[in-house]
Amino acid sequence: MSKELVVIALGGNALIRAGQRGTFEEQLSNLSKIATYIVQLAEKYSLIITHGNGPQVGNLYLQQETTKDVPPMPLHACGAMTQSLIGYMIQQAISTADPSLDVAVVTTRVEVDPNDPAFRSPSKPIGPFYPEDRLEELKKKGWDLVHVPGKGWRRVVPSPLPRRILELNVIRRLIGNSDIVVAVGGGGIPVIKRGEGYEGVDAVIDKDLASSLLASELNASRFVILTDVDGVYLDYGKPTQRVLPELCAGEALQMVGNGMFPRGSMGPKVEAAALYTQKTGKVSVISHLDKILDAVDLRFGTRILPCK
Ligand code: ADP
Ligand code: MG
Repeated sequence: MSKELVVIALGGNALIRAGQRGTFEEQLSNLSKIATYIVQLAEKYSLIITHGNGPQVGNLYLQQETTKDVPPMPLHACGAMTQSLIGYMIQQAISTADPSLDVAVVTTRVEVDPNDPAFRSPSKPIGPFYPEDRLEELKKKGWDLVHVPGKGWRRVVPSPLPRRILELNVIRRLIGNSDIVVAVGGGGIPVIKRGEGYEGVDAVIDKDLASSLLASELNASRFVILTDVDGVYLDYGKPTQRVLPELCAGEALQMVGNGMFPRGSMGPKVEAAALYTQKTGKVSVISHLDKILDAVDLRFGTRILPCK
């Protein structure tokens, strides 16, 4: 009997923990801890791992600007480079935990709409945080910036909606033929249709929404979003805050529509989980990365269920 398919979206803290700079060694070491759990899950499930790339793609893009001796690569090419880099680190971490497992990393392009309004209002934060005294200098570069309370200023780029995963068939063929598949890294490389082919565009797609699309298209048995909080909170940040054990998909989408969750963080996670559940009728879960085993088996986190 073939194993059930589980799609797991790894949040930023899988690679860089609070207070870290994000060196190669730090990222690999963070992944190593998670890899031991992923190896356990691979015994029971067929796994697709997806991941974000906000800090990594921003850093790489910044390196294009600061090195004058070689031609700079566009943002979408940096996105492709981070898929490979992070995929490589996941391969290294998994093979240390269990050398017998095969890990396939798929360079994944995701089609977006060139008329997506997101191109006119950049919202996805990438790269490092900057202190207030650098603001004028950064604005002169023509950057769009957002202020993150308590952390500083951060560059933002457009984040159009994922429409179609171009490598869907390749991914489908790898399931069952490879123990673990890593795909739609960083939300996928954004491309638009151009003639018979496609052209990369400078943007960063939300990784949770792209992962949701993948999980739905593959009709995965479960979709798991792992981040740095225990689940979806009501009254987040207030003394009355509490984790919701479950939500039904329609209700969750209504809460997103009412602006109950921030656009750049919990909003797209709740939306991504709910869209998958609504389309497939299957349960999704939003949970803390350290609780990965319990989250996959629905013993921890916020479960999103079909509405009755
Ligand atoms: P990741 O990098 O893991 O994909 P984000 O950093 O984008 O995740 O989003 C997770 C963050 O969302 C949490 O660290 C938390 O600060 C924030 N957040 C905002 N509103 C809520 C909420 N209602 N419930 C839980 N977390 C929330
Ligand atoms: Mg984050």
